[in-house]
Amino acid sequence: MLPKALTIAGSDSGGGAGIQADLKTFQELDTFGMSVITAVTAQNTEGVQGVYPVESEGIDQQITSVMDDIGADAVKTGMLFDKEIIGIVAEKSRYYKWPNLVVDPVMVSTSGSKLLKNEAIDALINELIPQAAIITPNIPEAKELTGLTIQTVDDRKNTVKEMYKMGASAVLLKGGHEKNKGKVVDLFYDGRTFHYLSVPEINTPHTHGTGCTYAAAITANLAKGLPLPEAVRKAKMFIHAAIMHGFSIGKGSGPTNHAA
Ligand code: PLP
Repeated sequence: MLPKALTIAGSDSGGGAGIQADLKTFQELDTFGMSVITAVTAQNTEGVQGVYPVESEGIDQQITSVMDDIGADAVKTGMLFDKEIIGIVAEKSRYYKWPNLVVDPVMVSTSGSKLLKNEAIDALINELIPQAAIITPNIPEAKELTGLTIQTVDDRKNTVKEMYKMGASAVLLKGGHEKNKGKVVDLFYDGRTFHYLSVPEINTPHTHGTGCTYAAAITANLAKGLPLPEAVRKAKMFIHAAIMHGFSIGKGSGPTNHAA
């Protein structure tokens, strides 16, 4: 039987990020993908033209439908949009006791659209992050979550430790937004040791959906039963290849290639 992976996230009509990126990644990594849609976005390679949240009851019911019948070996959250949605997901997570919960604290799209309301950040920190097996912030998201500045290597370590205190079992700080001498360095911390995941920077505009795809790959690997550090290491290889083979489609920033 295929391992089962569930994504709770926003739909990207353009197919590069959000639910669509997650399902493509789940499929590529030989897991059975399921989806709970929190919001519909009208979106393409040029940006987000509209955001339409699904009503709370609809989100609640989608989770119940999936969990009471099929179940999930790992669950990922992406765009949650507001604190009401976060509250529902947090309550379901407590009820179903998801052991492999990957929280990607999605806040703003690369094109600048808000995917999480400012007043929802506290709910993310207090209600959802404490239940996560791992959280996967990029540097701008880590700054929002902690209020810290991140410039030096020590800053990165302190920020990761500060986020670890929020209660997730592990933290992955993604370095893609601040490259260092041609390298992208991610920092993984599980409360014991720091692991650096370093790859050469790839110079491409076609990175739409990178964060979603990376977190989805971690989720698929956890669903398959890999231990967390191994799930992250393999996901890093997957996203590196996906960015390397990112391609131009439409007029703007194209997607990463999930099938690379
Ligand atoms: N749209 C949705 C629904 C998302 O969940 C995300 C990211 O998580 C994005 C867009 C952002 O994509 P990007 O910033 O890679 O363009």
